[in-house]
Amino acid sequence: MIFLTLLAPIFAPYILGWPALATLVTLAADLGITLGLGVAAGNPGLPDYLSLSLTITLVGAWLGLTLATALWRNLESSFDRMPWLRHTQELQSRKGGRTYQTKCPFTGLRPTARCPSCSCRVHDIALQPPDRWVESLPVCDVPLRWDLAKEAMAGAENPIQARESLDRALDFRGNVLLAGVTTCCVGCAAWQKNCHLRPRLALGMTSVSVTFVILPWAFSGFSDTIGVAGTALQVATEALAVSYSTLALLVQIQAVLRANAFLVEYAAAVPELLPLFRPPTAGLLAHLHALFLHTPWEG
Ligand SMILES: [Zn+2]
Ligand SMILES: [Zn+2]
Ligand SMILES: [Zn+2]
Repeated sequence: MIFLTLLAPIFAPYILGWPALATLVTLAADLGITLGLGVAAGNPGLPDYLSLSLTITLVGAWLGLTLATALWRNLESSFDRMPWLRHTQELQSRKGGRTYQTKCPFTGLRPTARCPSCSCRVHDIALQPPDRWVESLPVCDVPLRWDLAKEAMAGAENPIQARESLDRALDFRGNVLLAGVTTCCVGCAAWQKNCHLRPRLALGMTSVSVTFVILPWAFSGFSDTIGVAGTALQVATEALAVSYSTLALLVQIQAVLRANAFLVEYAAAVPELLPLFRPPTAGLLAHLHALFLHTPWEG
């Protein structure tokens, strides 16, 4: 949590690419308010109220988006049942009593590899190599399939086999700061990054933002006694609150847009994947949408 707090402002722009620049706009607006109108240490005045409203608006937008994609149209419901697996059953052929999955559900090609998360057999094209630094960054690194690990131990008859499946389950990992995962199929990658890792990062940053926004109000007496330093502290915490909440909102927007883009791309191959909306195809909106789908440093 402490690493997430400290490192998020560095890694969130890395995850976001160009849209991260929007943070400079809200930050400039906040500094315009607090420095332009003149924050005074101690009792909160107009600039403090305006800065607070800005943060509340951003946090509210994040909350609205998060709730809408969980309660109104559940984004994860297209992923967590791994419909591409069910779909492969139609592609199985029986040969001498054993069933073979003969086609990769994402590409329709002959399978060449197995996804360590969902065990789907996919073609190379649908197998994602590990994201950059995921295997080397030691902080905010999380196993993503605890459920598989538990299953491996629960159904343990053969200890060696159980150990192998446990290892495989724990080796499939993600990093919250990078929104990246180790090798897996494109379905699991889109699912884990956009339904777990990015939302977790956004939630973490929102919590930090809310903490910063409360500080000047909770310690107005203290900031009053230290005078100019108190004013500087108040300007800084309010600026941090606005920055963190902007980044959180952007990361959540990116999660929804990327998950939806995946659903749109593979809906033809796996009909159970249901896109939330049709992506914009022309105009400014289409341009903005594209910026969220690709960073300049992604391969
Ligand atoms: Zn998979
Ligand atoms: Zn989930
Ligand atoms: Zn590319």
